[in-house]
Amino acid sequence: MKEDFKTLLLKTLPLPEANDLYESLQSNPTISLRINPKKTNLVPKNSNKVAHCNSAYYLEERPVFTADPAFHAGVYYVQEANSMWIGRVFEHLRSLIAESVVVLDLCAAPGGKTTHLSSLMQDSDLLVANEVISSRKNILAENVSKWGDGNTWVCSADPVQFGNLGPLFDMVFCDAPCSGEGMFRKDLNAQQEWSLENIALCSSRQQRIVSDSWNCLKDGGYFIYSTCTFNTSENEENVNFICDSLGGELVDVSKIDPSGVLYCLKEYQYRCFPHRSTGEGLFFAVIRKNISTSKPIKNKAQQIEIKKSDINGFSYVGFRSKNWLVPNYHLQCLNLLCLLPGLFHVGTLFGDVFKGKWKPHPAIALLAIESSLPLVELNDQEAMAYLRREFLPKKSSQRGVVIMRWFEFNIGISNSINNGLNNLWPMEWRVRNQFLCNTVFPR
Ligand code: SAM
Repeated sequence: MKEDFKTLLLKTLPLPEANDLYESLQSNPTISLRINPKKTNLVPKNSNKVAHCNSAYYLEERPVFTADPAFHAGVYYVQEANSMWIGRVFEHLRSLIAESVVVLDLCAAPGGKTTHLSSLMQDSDLLVANEVISSRKNILAENVSKWGDGNTWVCSADPVQFGNLGPLFDMVFCDAPCSGEGMFRKDLNAQQEWSLENIALCSSRQQRIVSDSWNCLKDGGYFIYSTCTFNTSENEENVNFICDSLGGELVDVSKIDPSGVLYCLKEYQYRCFPHRSTGEGLFFAVIRKNISTSKPIKNKAQQIEIKKSDINGFSYVGFRSKNWLVPNYHLQCLNLLCLLPGLFHVGTLFGDVFKGKWKPHPAIALLAIESSLPLVELNDQEAMAYLRREFLPKKSSQRGVVIMRWFEFNIGISNSINNGLNNLWPMEWRVRNQFLCNTVFPR
């Protein structure tokens, strides 16, 4: 680690804390995952519970996740454990609001916090996940589809375009791009790229992101600012800026930490350190908007067409030449939501109509609800071959769209034709190497 970094750390924190933190940054990172509670309650092999997240576990060693069909089927998400504190923040804030909420995850790719929030939302709540960097938006949509809650819409827009929307969201999560000091153990690049100049650059970009998007938060709504870095310019100083310049007040969320592992350099601003709570670095603060800054909605609406409504609680919606399944309780906000900037994914992708025929998308098998489509059971080799997008031999007389099932999980769909199973796993999701199947779950 660079000498300047150590000097800054010693300037930022009192001595014992700074030394303990510096020492912990020399050790190996831990590996953890969060289970999808709507898909399983199995406990991974050789694992220990993460104390601050009900559905998460530390693994003793890192397996090859690509070799596990359950990983591809959104049965769990590999996520650094301290980031899961954001889930606790959400649960606490959600308990303060009686009505349904609309939540924005402004800097969302690859989707760790998005999938966590979507698991914790109540049925009628809606999550909008945004990623401005175009090359990262697809991995976000992929993870949302695989997680299968159906309650998340995905956009790719600049924060300023959300600001132009006017006050639409009850909560805005801003997990800002940062200098990544808290990821030094996991990411050697972050160590190499670290410099005081980069901190200054990150800090001003973070201020811009928050100022630009601030208008889309409702009056009295909550802005949850987080980074995975330790310096104060990107953390406490920016929170100060938000409160003073934009009109917010800090919210006490210390209730979420009864065992007192979080560290506060400033009141109501929380830091997770690897030596206090097993995982990497995280900073967060909750700011309540207390000044009205409403603006009229300026964005141009995209066309969303309800094709059929109320089929087992869902409706078919046409959007961007594709068909989507949207829970009925989200229909009431369709008019408003079609204004979302850069919106490209709504609910669950049901499929395209190709040459007059329905070409279904595997997202319908990965949706965390029971399906009436016929199942085809796959063994380990067949499951891996399916994920490599290979053509599989026919396993029953069944014809048409069938769900591929492996172990306890739906992992995709195929079209069963005369001589075999036509693989409908998307090309961009396919596994490229030959791995021997190996799951994190006991069997
Ligand atoms: N929340 C994510 C998760 O839990 O998986 C991690 C988000 S990462 C810390 C920050 C994200 O902000 C990155 O995906 C990055 O592409 C995006 N980003 C970069 N520049 C941005 C900008 N100017 N405005 C908004 N987001 C930006």
